[in-house]
Amino acid sequence: MSVGTMKRFRVGLLGEGIGESLTPAMHIAEGRRLGLEYAYELFDITSDTFDEAGLAAFVTGLRAAGFDGLNVTHPYKQRVISFADQLSSDARSIGAVNLLVFDQGGMTGHNTDWTGFSGAFMSHLGRAPRSTVLQMGAGGAGAATAYALLRLGVERLTIHDLDADRAQGLADRYGPMFLGQTITVTSGDLDGLWPSFDGVVHATPTGMDKHPGLAMDPDHLAPDAWVAEVVYRPLDTALVVSARAAGRQVMDGSMMAAGQAIDSLRILTGLEPDADRVRSDLLGLLQAEAPATRVVAE
Ligand code: NAD
Repeated sequence: MSVGTMKRFRVGLLGEGIGESLTPAMHIAEGRRLGLEYAYELFDITSDTFDEAGLAAFVTGLRAAGFDGLNVTHPYKQRVISFADQLSSDARSIGAVNLLVFDQGGMTGHNTDWTGFSGAFMSHLGRAPRSTVLQMGAGGAGAATAYALLRLGVERLTIHDLDADRAQGLADRYGPMFLGQTITVTSGDLDGLWPSFDGVVHATPTGMDKHPGLAMDPDHLAPDAWVAEVVYRPLDTALVVSARAAGRQVMDGSMMAAGQAIDSLRILTGLEPDADRVRSDLLGLLQAEAPATRVVAE
């Protein structure tokens, strides 16, 4: 197909401090392999640049300029809700949008963080038991993973956060939506609870290059409990390394990151991305950032 006949897509990412985001590279590489002329631009904007009306005008301007959609990340995932024309029911339930699609119907807000996690979870840990699960962290990532876990049928979800109000906020939000399932919150010791968890989802920043260390000691878990990590810089966090060394089933943070890009691409283009190809792109990019890191494709 010549470039002249290729379908064009123009997409952006709105966020603060996103200069090193790997999302553009994932979109561009897969978009082009899908036969599209795919452009992806970063809008790295500090949170106090716009008031709500200014933000709405900025995003509306992107639509008028011919953008097909906009990925949205911290600190805008809640703010864009006020001016989206409609929301997917999941984005409304989570209260966060990470993708705005611009089309004839206006501006539609979606959330592919939860589907990205959920899809990755099912491909990597789908056969593992998940009746009773611990989630560490109740921030932006935790809102998506908790929703995913509840949608995946977790019966008893314990949400642990140093900030008790944040954990309680998620329980208050999701409790009424998942009436047959139990959500417990903690901010203190998990002492007697450890053996009951089938697995743990780690969604705090601990383990990032900037926040090294462990938010929890995985040795407390039952021997066959699995670990799902959301931190992916570095890919081999202390939690991932320690859980693998103990022979656990582990899903690393790249899986959710690739998953949200794959699901965004599908919604934006109507085409089916090749999930393995996108994951492999992301692993390659992460490996290039940290050549000494052992990268395992799972
Ligand atoms: P956030 O600041 O919104 O929330 C983090 C939460 O963790 C806070 O509520 C905080 O109180 C809690 N916390 C911090 N340390 C803790 C500890 N030791 N024990 C218990 N709770 C603790 O951050 P976020 O946006 O949710 O991001 C969290 C991590 O997830 C970051 O590393 C981010 O890069 C990563 N992330 C990954 C993906 C992905 O696609 N894989 C997507 C989003 C975020």
